Amino acid sequence: MKRKEFLKKGAIVGIAGSVLATSCNTSEVSDVEAPNIITNKKYQWKMVTTWPPNFPVVGTGCNDLAKWIKTMSGGRLEIKVYGGNELVPPLQVFEAVSGGSVEMGHGASYYWTGIEPAFAFFTSIPFGMNAQQMNAWMEFGGGQELWEDTYKRFNILPFFAGNTGVQMGGWFNRKIESMDSWKGLKMRMPGLGGKVISEAGATAVLSPGSELYTNLERGVIDATEWIGPYHDYLMGFHNIAKYYYYPGWHEPGSVLEVIINKRDYEALPLDLQEIVRSACYRSNQRMLSEFEAKNNVYLKKIKAESDVEILSYPKEVMTGMKEIALRIYDELAQQDAQSAKVYESFRSFKNDITQWSQGAEKAFYNDIG
Ligand code: CA
Repeated sequence: MKRKEFLKKGAIVGIAGSVLATSCNTSEVSDVEAPNIITNKKYQWKMVTTWPPNFPVVGTGCNDLAKWIKTMSGGRLEIKVYGGNELVPPLQVFEAVSGGSVEMGHGASYYWTGIEPAFAFFTSIPFGMNAQQMNAWMEFGGGQELWEDTYKRFNILPFFAGNTGVQMGGWFNRKIESMDSWKGLKMRMPGLGGKVISEAGATAVLSPGSELYTNLERGVIDATEWIGPYHDYLMGFHNIAKYYYYPGWHEPGSVLEVIINKRDYEALPLDLQEIVRSACYRSNQRMLSEFEAKNNVYLKKIKAESDVEILSYPKEVMTGMKEIALRIYDELAQQDAQSAKVYESFRSFKNDITQWSQGAEKAFYNDIG
């Protein structure tokens, strides 16, 4: 009895003590931070994007990001969003932010691999990691630090701010039944995925999104990848292609990035920096959730409204393509020091987390999901 009473008292004192300590700390912290927070200085930024204006999920997601930042900052940081070509061409977003003509951009690091090949690893690589694993690598596996290190000499600070989830394999008018099926196939496939299909005997074509439908319809290309059922449906590919393959081995979870000119970011008061960081986090989750929810709805629509056959790549093809991809990464690492450094971290994190994912996620999908 006595002991219980003592414990009760102790607990109460303990709680009160920690409350007191917390409130003391809080007031100390706010005194220190006050000069940074209480300021009426207003910032007006421009954000250029690689997407057409108001493009579903990614374009509209950038509009949301700007809106949240304005609200959270009480109007102290206002960001005007520009679609591709409204201020700069889509593929010059990185250079515009780097040079400082605009403060901020949204796109994907693999668009800029012409500048530095190591950038590929921060979006998605064939047979790489899914969204959940990329988030884990970025935040707890050293990915973010390596990304910052790779972008440093361009005066850019990167943030992960969106993810497509696992993409679909693509639309075909010829079946992929074995590794031989790639021979002579003309397919729109950008980035390292394009290198993999080229090594397998296909021709990787780089058609811009706006020309894909016509090119596939007229037989200029035999196949194209795009994103997932939601965006693919909006493009109308189910009206002109016979087969829809999965999974998107070439893009298992593409990270979308916010890039900010480092000097502009560092010129912000600390609270605005945290607001920007937090808004990017919210975008990261929200875009992934929107892709996930809508892909499901639109896959059903594709099935209901067309005769397209939805097929999985044969195991032999998946194994063959993976072998090629791993060979390409080894070659890349031999040629380029920064790629070697990033790939080493990427590969070891992936190999390690795969053991956990197989016991948890894979088992869930096999037996429960
Ligand atoms: Ca894609």
